[in-house]
Amino acid sequence: MGRNNVGVIGAGQMGTGIVEVCAEAGFDVYFMDIDADKLAQALSIVHDNLAKKVEKGKLSAQYAEAARARITTGADYDGFRDAHIVIEAAVEDEAVKKSILKSLCPVLPKDAIIGTNTSTLSITRLAAMSDRPGRFLGTHFMNPVPKMELVELIRGIATDEDTYRELHDFATHLGKIPISAEDFPAFVVNRILMPMINEAIYTLYEGVGSVESIDTAMRLGTHHPMGPLELADFIGLDTCLGVMHTLHDGLSDSKYRPCPLLVKYVEAGWLGRKTDRGFYDYSTDKPIPTR
Ligand code: NAD
Repeated sequence: MGRNNVGVIGAGQMGTGIVEVCAEAGFDVYFMDIDADKLAQALSIVHDNLAKKVEKGKLSAQYAEAARARITTGADYDGFRDAHIVIEAAVEDEAVKKSILKSLCPVLPKDAIIGTNTSTLSITRLAAMSDRPGRFLGTHFMNPVPKMELVELIRGIATDEDTYRELHDFATHLGKIPISAEDFPAFVVNRILMPMINEAIYTLYEGVGSVESIDTAMRLGTHHPMGPLELADFIGLDTCLGVMHTLHDGLSDSKYRPCPLLVKYVEAGWLGRKTDRGFYDYSTDKPIPTR
């Protein structure tokens, strides 16, 4: 079995970034999605990003070409036969992840590791849906993957120490800095970030500050590169609400209740940048605060 073979499932934002960093780090990657258009789109993003690095003198043309050649794509599970690590980055839907694991496990070598990029689902519960809970853990990359240094590594209750160590080495090899998190709702980054964003929305809702004053306050007062409302629009307000529900349901503490204004925006379909409207209006050149 080639120890250099990685599999990635899901050609969305995250899978695409993970494939790029793996190929650039020298791994052979099998990149799988059920949607051929998504795969083609993802591959062209990876090619563009590698080409930009060549233009900037960060990679040689030869190296970039070799990295491109290390990626193969497909819609079936056969390509995982030689994988030693598979990262599942498909849509955030437990039923989909369950059916992926059901198809993946029988073809995957017995000692291969499965990592899941889930932001909100229990690693322990997903691991129990596989045939190898000991060789399973959470590998939570940040968006955009090629730029963000962090990977949260989350042990399920059954994850082996060797599995953790191998994935720690793998993440380091990708040029990332891993931190260890326990398997509780939203892990570390979102456990802290989302209540802060939710509180910024409460601050707006209660009329303490306007969109502009809240974002300026946090940028200039705490040196955050983006204000919390701008960041919420960037992440997607539906995603923010989903994480707040995960925290509220999973920890049963009222301090995690989603702000009613956040709920209202999501109901209106004002999801942030992706719909051209959230706490800012993005339909013109310069984003305009909406409150
Ligand atoms: P996305 O919606 O952009 O992409 C999901 C992809 O999964 C799509 O290309 C879809 O075709 C594919 N897919 C759906 N069903 C499939 C199946 N049965 N088999 C194979 N592929 C299938 O999602 P994303 O934003 O890239 O997120 C992927 C994962 O990463 C999710 O678990 C999400 O919670 C997590 N995550 C997302 C972010 C983020 O900022 N977007 C950050 C960290 C973690």
